[in-house]
Amino acid sequence: MKGGLGVFCSDRCSRIGRRGRKLSFTKEGKRRALLVKTGSNNYGWKGGISKHSGGYILEQCKNHPRQIKGYVLQHILVVERKMGRYLKKDEEVHHINGIKNDNRIENLLVCNRQDHIRIEKGWKIIGGDWHKPCSGCKRFLKVEGNFYLRSNSCFVSQCKMCIANTTKPPVTTDYLQAQYARQSTPLW
Ligand SMILES: [Zn+2]
Ligand SMILES: [Zn+2]
Repeated sequence: MKGGLGVFCSDRCSRIGRRGRKLSFTKEGKRRALLVKTGSNNYGWKGGISKHSGGYILEQCKNHPRQIKGYVLQHILVVERKMGRYLKKDEEVHHINGIKNDNRIENLLVCNRQDHIRIEKGWKIIGGDWHKPCSGCKRFLKVEGNFYLRSNSCFVSQCKMCIANTTKPPVTTDYLQAQYARQSTPLW
């Protein structure tokens, strides 16, 4: 995550994070960033708050390990203030209600990257274990034994039972796996 945001709640933001690109300020954000330099007497002073192009709020915080141009994603600051420490490298912040500028502490969840991806894909923890939703029957199931794994390490969206019920003619697991192995693009 060198140079990246390390935090995402959208595809767009995760791409920015992965590419390690510098965050881009909106036009308004740039203007405000310039204005805040001149201090609180300026009409543009908003308490050092700016907007990230991804829909997040930026807060002025110099000397922060994740600061870029003197700004840090505000939701990071909110959870860090609550925890009394900086986020670790692999920790990310999820907006529970999906609203990226709702930085109330109760809307923020600190999790590692892998769990964050699961959460964004609608997985749930049931009885202490992660369960993935099936796009067919809508049940939440453990992936072990219930979902085929694609070669790109993503699970097939429908559970094995749904695939067995909807694919015609009825096919065996062996047949599906053989088909699957031959195709670079998945059948489902
Ligand atoms: Zn998220
Ligand atoms: Zn299913």
